[in-house]
Amino acid sequence: MKNQYDIIVVGAGPSGSMAARFAAEKGVSVLMLEKDRDVGYPVRCGEAVSEAGITEFIEIDKRWISTEINNFSFIAPDKSEVILPLPDRGYILERKIFDYALAESAAKAGAEIQTRAYVYDLIFDGNNVSGVKVEIGGEQKEIKAKIVIAADGVESRVGRWGGLKTYTDFREMESGVQVTASNIPVNQNTIYFYFGEKVAPEGYLWVFPKGNNLANIGLGVSGMIGKKKSALVYLNEFMEEHYPDAPILTRVAGGIPCTVTLDRIVTDGLMLVGDAARQINPLSGGGIASGMIGGSIAGKVAGEAIKKNDLSYIYQYEKDWNNRLGKRHKTFDNIKNGIFHFSDDKFNSIAKSILKVPIEKRTLGNIFKIALFNNPSLLLDVAKVFFQK
Ligand SMILES: Cc1cc2nc3c(=O)[nH]c(=O)nc-3n(C[C@H](O)[C@H](O)[C@H](O)COP(=O)(O)OP(=O)(O)OC[C@H]3O[C@@H](n4cnc5c(N)ncnc54)[C@H](O)[C@@H]3O)c2cc1C
Repeated sequence: MKNQYDIIVVGAGPSGSMAARFAAEKGVSVLMLEKDRDVGYPVRCGEAVSEAGITEFIEIDKRWISTEINNFSFIAPDKSEVILPLPDRGYILERKIFDYALAESAAKAGAEIQTRAYVYDLIFDGNNVSGVKVEIGGEQKEIKAKIVIAADGVESRVGRWGGLKTYTDFREMESGVQVTASNIPVNQNTIYFYFGEKVAPEGYLWVFPKGNNLANIGLGVSGMIGKKKSALVYLNEFMEEHYPDAPILTRVAGGIPCTVTLDRIVTDGLMLVGDAARQINPLSGGGIASGMIGGSIAGKVAGEAIKKNDLSYIYQYEKDWNNRLGKRHKTFDNIKNGIFHFSDDKFNSIAKSILKVPIEKRTLGNIFKIALFNNPSLLLDVAKVFFQK
């Protein structure tokens, strides 16, 4: 490892690996530092992605696909179930292997990778971020860089050290908990979403099949709800009711920042990507694909800034991100704020309206029209969603 690089990426999740790869593809020197021993582990994720979300970056490889998903099941509080064919194919990943493959693609592009490398501070040249302080195998070291890209996840501290406002209100931070359990006899090509006060108020519960009746079962509830009754208690109650004898193989917990992107994700010498920048889709809570998009844009822009010898060019990343997804996430956030406050009665009546449509006619557009027709008050909710902020 050298003492100086053009670009240092902190964190080797999906967004970090994409930032490292796209920067390295510009022919500049890149080092990616990961605090854990293994890239991709531990996994704190439901592992669901759409096909379109990943094929932009990497060819599908059976090694990291657990199941292919074609249907979406929505279970209302009164337990009525609506099944919808998905407009796009989806997958439940084996993220440990997937994250590894992404890091491999960064390495192939020329990025160096160092695991067990914990970044504990930044170094500055005046007001400019100019490198990192890192502990590797018990030894502390300073490594200089023209640009640092923080891809250090939801618990990111690098952005704060760089002077960016990274605070997320606890109401926007969903507390997520999940178990991976076996003996879950659900359709292996369907993802299940449960809504309602009892199951996951201001959030939802998911059952994502992983093949051989293994499934990720988890939920997210808003920080506001979690203060009164923890996400774990909701999950335990669900498991007790639905799968009391299912052996639990793993348990994970983590924050899911279901909110819009931070106002500023660039400062002099520093760029934030992925969860660290709050690039998660606020409606679904999915951050794999959007983090990869954020990482790829940041990596490209950072590489170009070095090539142009104009470090102020990194501010272009904020514009490019907002045009690609940031603005859309604001609309999703409004929709989320509407849906998450629907009463159980509203969820039940929406399910009833959709169930009247034969399954072969259940396209999203059709459902929307029919739900509105049978449920005129929904129009008011939709109007609220779009004119709320
Ligand atoms: C319970 C749960 C379920 C989820 N389910 C889904 C889902 O089904 N689909 C989906 O798309 N998204 C899901 N998400 C969100 C998704 O996991 C994240 O959005 C995604 O992992 C973000 O990628 P990232 O690269 O930004 O961060 P991470 O994947 O969190 O990677 C950050 C990396 O940085 C490293 N790091 C942190 N600090 C330092 C440091 N100081 N020095 C060096 N390295 C450091 C970490 O070890 C980690 O490897 C879920 C999240 C949770 C909590």
